[in-house]
Order: sequence, then C-alpha cells, then structure tokens
Amino acid sequence: MTDPLITTTALARSYQMGKTSVAALRGVDLTVQAGEFVALVGPSGSGKSTLLHLIGGLVRPSVGEVWVHGLELGGSSDTQLVAYRRDTLGFIFQSFNLLPIKSAWENVAVPLMLAGVPQAQRKARAIEILGQLGLAARAGHRPSELSGGEQQRVAIARALANRPRLLLADEPTGNLDSRTGGEIMALLQRLVREEGLTMLLVTHDMGVARFADRIVHLRDGLVERIEATEPELAR
Ligand code: ADP
Repeated sequence: MTDPLITTTALARSYQMGKTSVAALRGVDLTVQAGEFVALVGPSGSGKSTLLHLIGGLVRPSVGEVWVHGLELGGSSDTQLVAYRRDTLGFIFQSFNLLPIKSAWENVAVPLMLAGVPQAQRKARAIEILGQLGLAARAGHRPSELSGGEQQRVAIARALANRPRLLLADEPTGNLDSRTGGEIMALLQRLVREEGLTMLLVTHDMGVARFADRIVHLRDGLVERIEATEPELAR
C-alpha cells in the first residue's frame, strides 16, 4: 500500500544570474511516502537546498510539478502557500533560528500565535511539547542559557507546534558536536516512527544520512541514485 505525500515530476528550477541562467535542478522525479524519512545528499551546489525549498513552497518551479499532500505548489497562490507552510510543514534549520529575547516556551508558541491559537492555550501547548522532548525544566530559559543540543530541541518543538505532517530539515546537526548531533538524529528518527511524521533532511554528512530510510543522492541538479538503507538505529 502506498500513500505518497510528496511527488515531483520533471521538477526543474533555474536562477537568472545577469545574462546567464544557472540550472540548480534539472528534472527531478521523486516520490516520498507518508511516514518516510528521506535524506538528500550530494556535493555542494548539487541542488539539495533548491529541492528542499521547492517542496517547502519557498521557491517556485521553473518547469515541472511538485505535489505535497494534494496541493500542486507551483500553481498555488501566495496565500495558499502561506497556509500550506503554516499548516503542513515544520522547518528545522542548522542555526536553530530562535528568538534570543524570548524564552523556550515563547519561541515554541510563535507558530501557534500565527495559526490563531488563543493566547490562553499557547503556553500549555508549548510546555506540553517541550515536555515531550525532555525540556520541561528549560521552558522558561532563553536560548543563550541553553546548550546547542537543547536549542535545537526547542527549535524542533517549535517545528512540531502546529502538528505538521512534514518536517523539512536543513543540516540540523551542522552546528552540533557529533555526540549531540547523534542524539538529535535519534530524536528526529523517533518522531518519524512514533508520530507518523514524514521527514526530508538535507545533509552533506553520510553519518547523519544513515538515520534515514532512503538516501537520495543528487548531482548536478539530478537524482544520481536512490539508496535504501538499514537505518542507523536510535537508542
Ligand atoms: P546545494 O544545497 O546542494 O549546495 P543549491 O540548491 O544551494 O545546492 O544550489 C544549486 C545551484 O544553484 C548552485 O549552482 C547554486 O549556486 C545555484 N543557486 C542556488 N540558489 C540560487 C540563487 N538564489 N540565485 C542564484 N543561484 C542559485
């Protein structure tokens, strides 16, 4: 039984640089099933970020289609894309992107505010998610009072706040030491397995990619090969 959450067909994207056109992605056909954890790997400039941004509705296709959860993003209006990002996606970044003057729970509450969750419910929901990620005791701390791993867990809590179907992660362990990075990968893998999330992760680190169910190797804007893995097991 298959239930594709993401389907791209002949997906291509070019950028105009003065008079020349740079082909970042040159025709990608990719299907990601609901509940799958997929890593995108490849050399710098191979198109990983472009593909992630197309699926995240942040960049529009030049050619081809990108369907996520029944919506073709290239043909969607800006308003539809805002709603799509708010309701369907959670983003996780290398640099955490937390608001420095807000506490952990206030950071987690930001997307709840944007989704119109009443103020009275935001704090309880934010603290509940932080608790699920082992951060209940840190809820009132500002990012500068937290370790790198804790900051990334707060950022993951923020990404989960609106109960997204799809998590998009761009080098989420890039600013962490290898042990903490492994802990974050184990956490993300657990979330995919236990919460029925789907995850697409960009990395240049094969040790990180090994946590995924499939590894999509990109080169020169094309899928070079797709590798099914025996995922590194989280403990
Ligand atoms: P990766 O994430 O694998 O490093 P990218 O998707 O960032 O690759 O980039 C693919 C190609 O597209 C590169 O040649 C890059 O220089 C180019 N590119 C990406 N984004 C832009 C942009 N906003 N403007 C111009 N060129 C871009």
